[in-house]
Amino acid sequence: MSRSVVIVGGGLAGLSAAVALAERDFRVTLLDSRPRLGGRASSFVDQSTGELIDNCQHVSMGCCTNFDWFCRTVGIDEFFQTEEQLEFIEPPDLTSGSETMTPPRSFPLHNGPLPAPLHLANALRKHHYLSFSDQLRIATTLRTLARLQSRPSVSFAQWLVEKGQNAVAMDRFWDVVLVSALSETLDRIDVWSARKVFIDGFMANRDGWKVKVPTVPLDQLYGSVLSEWLDSHRVDWRLKTQVAQIDVTDKVQSARLRNGEDIQGSDFILAVPFHRLRELVPDGVIKDDWLRNVDQFESAPIASAHLWFDRPFTEKRHAVLIGRFSQWMFHRSAISRTESKGAYYQVVISAAREASKLRQQEVIERVLADIHEVWPESRSCELIHSRVVTEHRAVFSVVPGIDALRPQQQTSIQNLQLAGDWTQTGWPATMEGAVRSGLLAAENVLRNHGESESLLQPDLPTALLSKLVIARTV
Ligand SMILES: Cc1cc2nc3c(=O)[nH]c(=O)nc-3n(C[C@H](O)[C@H](O)[C@H](O)COP(=O)(O)OP(=O)(O)OC[C@H]3O[C@@H](n4cnc5c(N)ncnc54)[C@H](O)[C@@H]3O)c2cc1C
Repeated sequence: MSRSVVIVGGGLAGLSAAVALAERDFRVTLLDSRPRLGGRASSFVDQSTGELIDNCQHVSMGCCTNFDWFCRTVGIDEFFQTEEQLEFIEPPDLTSGSETMTPPRSFPLHNGPLPAPLHLANALRKHHYLSFSDQLRIATTLRTLARLQSRPSVSFAQWLVEKGQNAVAMDRFWDVVLVSALSETLDRIDVWSARKVFIDGFMANRDGWKVKVPTVPLDQLYGSVLSEWLDSHRVDWRLKTQVAQIDVTDKVQSARLRNGEDIQGSDFILAVPFHRLRELVPDGVIKDDWLRNVDQFESAPIASAHLWFDRPFTEKRHAVLIGRFSQWMFHRSAISRTESKGAYYQVVISAAREASKLRQQEVIERVLADIHEVWPESRSCELIHSRVVTEHRAVFSVVPGIDALRPQQQTSIQNLQLAGDWTQTGWPATMEGAVRSGLLAAENVLRNHGESESLLQPDLPTALLSKLVIARTV
């Protein structure tokens, strides 16, 4: 019992805590109510095609150093493909008026010869859907954002207006980057969260922005290789095992399962989403602010349209669609190591409040309209099958002031830790944020056992020139 940790939640937060502590000779029990590991990053079998498909495309980025550590440690890093170039499709209003109806142009984004933070300037300069003066204003505002030292209380949209950004720059630049990174609209984004995306992803290091796409469905990614690692490190991981509540006196005594079984341990980590926390904690036992604060968290939805055509309409592995209902296209049959029936594409719509109110067929029609406009050759391809998946509670909303509500992993009860993408990590709801939270919780467990070790991985190094531009913050 002296070094035994019970972790509730087998998403990336719980998994990373389990991996870190199992490596340090803790006896780990990992419990999840679902039939699979990976939590929100999951797949299911599409009945019509019989294929294992993701609830939604999940991607990582070069700046996600802790998620990288997790994948390397358990041996799943080989299941990712790094995109060295991103393809941006110009907005529709630039082509719709033209008589020849030429398809919109694609603008690549890739590293140029200059050091960070100017590494993308060469490519971005050629993105003609932004005028030269808009580009200059964006660059100046990015510099102001990087130099910020205190947290403005206004929304990022309001902040951008104050900095003189116009509607075109909002729609074609700020919105494009942030809506997919944070799954929120600019009027609901905290300035600091936006800053985090631009600094870590685009300004500090030449490799931060590179998108890493899994080449297998998420259930395979967090499947046999991971479970073999857990087995070989004697982690007792149990699926379809729901924890009803924790038993607390002066400390947590046990986690009570729905079937009445008590699981005991020296330490406990609750690695569940914020909206599942209250049911686990007995009323009145814990008076910390974090328990009240979770009631103020809001969720943001993400929708994905899955489309199978009789043949491919583009060989591009992905595309970022600017100014359209559809935001990112992933050509899964070109990316994936697994076979698909026909050409399988996935279109992701983040901050999907509008899409979540539509019927499935309406979503498919709007996505198809975008695809037909961008890739006219798709009109002659037959759509064999389609479906829409909407995750209403995909991520927590990064509304202004959110960081003040996010709890530390250590609670006032010494042997109880919180973990999860929504806890205090400085990161938005991502696989990286979840892994960070798990490692922070594991660090606290070690500290409570008299061992001081920093488990968080270093960020990518900040380039020399970037150090001059980016203000150091506390
Ligand atoms: C549609 C969608 C798209 C996304 N796209 C991306 C992306 O491209 N890139 C990215 O980095 N992130 C993305 N995310 C976010 C990412 O999936 C999450 O931030 C991350 O997976 C959260 O991990 P977690 O461990 O904190 O929580 P979760 O994954 O939610 O894990 C919590 C686990 O706790 C379990 N649980 C809850 N209550 C109990 C209980 N009482 N007993 C036992 N188990 C319990 C749940 O079953 C769950 O498995 C996306 C999320 C969604 C939904």
